[in-house]
Amino acid sequence: MASRFRKWGLIAVAVAGILVAVLVGVVLAVFYFGALPLREGTMLGGGRVVAVTEGWGPVTIGSYLIALDEGDFALVDAGMDPDAGAIRSALKDRGAEPRDVRYIFITHAHGDHIGGIQSFPDAEVYAVEADARAIRESSLLTPRGLADGDVVSAAGTDVEVFALPGHTPGSAAYLACGVLFLGDSAAAAYDGSISANRLFSKDSGSTRESLAALAHRLKGRANEVQQIAFGHQGPVDGLGPLLEWAAARGPR
Ligand SMILES: [Zn+2]
Repeated sequence: MASRFRKWGLIAVAVAGILVAVLVGVVLAVFYFGALPLREGTMLGGGRVVAVTEGWGPVTIGSYLIALDEGDFALVDAGMDPDAGAIRSALKDRGAEPRDVRYIFITHAHGDHIGGIQSFPDAEVYAVEADARAIRESSLLTPRGLADGDVVSAAGTDVEVFALPGHTPGSAAYLACGVLFLGDSAAAAYDGSISANRLFSKDSGSTRESLAALAHRLKGRANEVQQIAFGHQGPVDGLGPLLEWAAARGPR
């Protein structure tokens, strides 16, 4: 009798395992095939910003290298690879080295965005305070805390900071060189539309509130945004897709 129970128990576990695997596969397929792909080497901001990518299964992880004056660079996010291989090779292609990265702006403190930080010991690292604190508490890194509305002058290039609590408590958007970097707060679909991101989000309702507030704040400055860049999908042109998402969401 006992062995019969064990047999059915094993079958139940196997079936549950298969169901979970199928579910994970479907989620990844939707994430991968429904998304606007982010391609290595995509140029943004009139040629001053380049997308650098790493693959993690079917997921593309993006970071962005910004050319500053006098051969210096800034990064928005630092990927997942602790050796930052993809970023190093993008720097090499530009005749630069890891020590030329002087600033790193983190959109949020998830492992696929902060993994490569230690490969750039000469960089000043910035994150919105709640996520800066999370990084300080979980590593030997000591990022500087930013607040909403701060403007950091990165070797003469202004980087404007917008707090977007939701995906993480200290999620940030940055506006620099005509590119609005949204990290994982939003995702771009294959048709070029964007939406608030729910995957791996701490508080999706807050993400939507934050994005709607950002759209409202930037409405009158659409001419300053050439592209919107994301953590895992391709860029979209202009501020339009964010304004359209906010308008379709209706009055708050
Ligand atoms: Zn991510």
